[in-house]
Amino acid sequence: MIKTLGLALMIALLSGCGAEKSMTPKQALFQSVSEKDAVLLQDGKEKRYCVRCGMDLVRFYKTSHAAEHEGKELQYCSIHCLEEHLGEGVTLKNPRVVDVASLKFISIADAYYVVGSSKRGTMSRVSKYAFADAEEAKKFQKLYGGEIMRFDGAQAKAKEDFK
Ligand SMILES: [Zn+2]
Repeated sequence: MIKTLGLALMIALLSGCGAEKSMTPKQALFQSVSEKDAVLLQDGKEKRYCVRCGMDLVRFYKTSHAAEHEGKELQYCSIHCLEEHLGEGVTLKNPRVVDVASLKFISIADAYYVVGSSKRGTMSRVSKYAFADAEEAKKFQKLYGGEIMRFDGAQAKAKEDFK
């Protein structure tokens, strides 16, 4: 019995790895949206890319964050990249996050984050997806697990990636 369980676990682990390896760059991720649904806030040729790490913001849209810095709109692929920037002591105004349900930006103050669900994260092993509506967050949590937190909690989790 124990042996069977161990084998099942092994297969689960192996197939998990396999799925990750066979993923091609063009394959859509949970974070991805079609280009017409993505709100891109930055100007110029780099508008489609995370200001910190350069990742594609349409591909990683559902974890995108934004803020104003010295009068300019900056857009990040994730709370990870936002937190990395804040860690440098910059002042960021009007921080926002994408609401996974509506795909619109909302203030981080209004967001309910589902942290650590089975949906993969962006730049982090612990995923963080935000919702404007607490009920939407609960629905997502029911399907994919994780813990519901406000921005402060999600930020504390994001900080752990830099330890
Ligand atoms: Zn980034």
